[in-house]
Amino acid sequence: MLDPFGRRAQELLNEFDTINELLEIIPNYLDMELALERVRWVNTGRIPDYLLTLNDWKDLISFYALLGALAFSPYGVEMELVKEANLKIYLRKIALSENFEELALPLEKPSENEIPKRDKTIIEKTLHEELPPEEKDKIILKYKIPLKEFLSLNEGSLKDFYIRNGYVYLNKAQVIELWKKSFEKNLEKAVNILYDIREELPHYYVELYSRLSELAREYFKERVEKFSTTAQPLRFDFFPPCVKIALGGVPSGLRNYAITVLLTSFLSYARICPNPPKRDVKVKDCVKDLKVIKEEILPLIIQAGNRCKPPLFQDQPNEIKNIWYHLGFGYTLEPSLEDSGNSTWYFPPNCEKIRSSAPQLCKPDKDCRYIKNPLTYYLRKLYLSKKKSEGEDNEHSI
Ligand code: SF4
Repeated sequence: MLDPFGRRAQELLNEFDTINELLEIIPNYLDMELALERVRWVNTGRIPDYLLTLNDWKDLISFYALLGALAFSPYGVEMELVKEANLKIYLRKIALSENFEELALPLEKPSENEIPKRDKTIIEKTLHEELPPEEKDKIILKYKIPLKEFLSLNEGSLKDFYIRNGYVYLNKAQVIELWKKSFEKNLEKAVNILYDIREELPHYYVELYSRLSELAREYFKERVEKFSTTAQPLRFDFFPPCVKIALGGVPSGLRNYAITVLLTSFLSYARICPNPPKRDVKVKDCVKDLKVIKEEILPLIIQAGNRCKPPLFQDQPNEIKNIWYHLGFGYTLEPSLEDSGNSTWYFPPNCEKIRSSAPQLCKPDKDCRYIKNPLTYYLRKLYLSKKKSEGEDNEHSI
């Protein structure tokens, strides 16, 4: 298979009603080792031949098993490793293939006289007889893609592309570059879908995640700190629009949902446990005392409540107890760490739930299109900023 998100993969996936169904049966068919083999080779730099010749089904399920594992910690070193290793595997297969139709790109073949002769002569260097045929083959514009689709994948400059009548025309190397972007986007999209259903996934994926994490931490030894998604100070500039709206204070009909449900869960998980290590996690699994809650999180929630019209806690002083209840300490005013677990520590509601319960809070920006939960919006922004600063560090050290 050339692309786990491409046409052949879709045919195989169509056998299942939902992605959960596929992930449920994978443990019956796949030894976890094969999924790990897909990434284990990267430090040797040599892709084992058998990974390049797996049958389509084995290829698909070993890749999707890794995606299932990533649902437990999107946007960390694990995702970096899965992305890097699998991009290389599929790129090698694509480079050896002439059949780009299987790729998850809406490619079309231009008809013979579609490109004016004058343009063709310049772009494809048809008059340069000194060029060997294999060099000429590389620059022939063999494919085209609707401009709209192209722009959704390529955010960079258009200056190196030939554009005509709403299409972008591409040579082989350009198709491959575009495919890389589509692979990264599709991988991110799939991990976000699975993040939403991670509670329903079999234990197999938790175990696979933990083995994958060991490999990723070893491979990215020097970068682990940078890419860590463990507890760290909050970055307000990376908050999603709904959380920013809630922080700014909201009118009476929205107050309880915005402050008690959304803000309390988002701030607490983002600050002390962005990647819960297990289901039913408790605050006491993540912190040793209540200092960070009492001194950082609660003041933010109370200030946001005070900005509501009318101020939430003046109207409903008992709502503070409800905040502690949502943090998992039961309905109380003065909890101790040991009380954590007396109620459930509510996880941030997903975007769909927010849109149905409090549509006024959801004012999506361009980054919202990648995610399905406000917490993953935040994790993604953290990840992108660390990646950016890592790129800048590399530039400085050249
Ligand atoms: S799409 Fe999700 S993260 Fe974005 S504003 Fe709406 S609810 Fe918040």
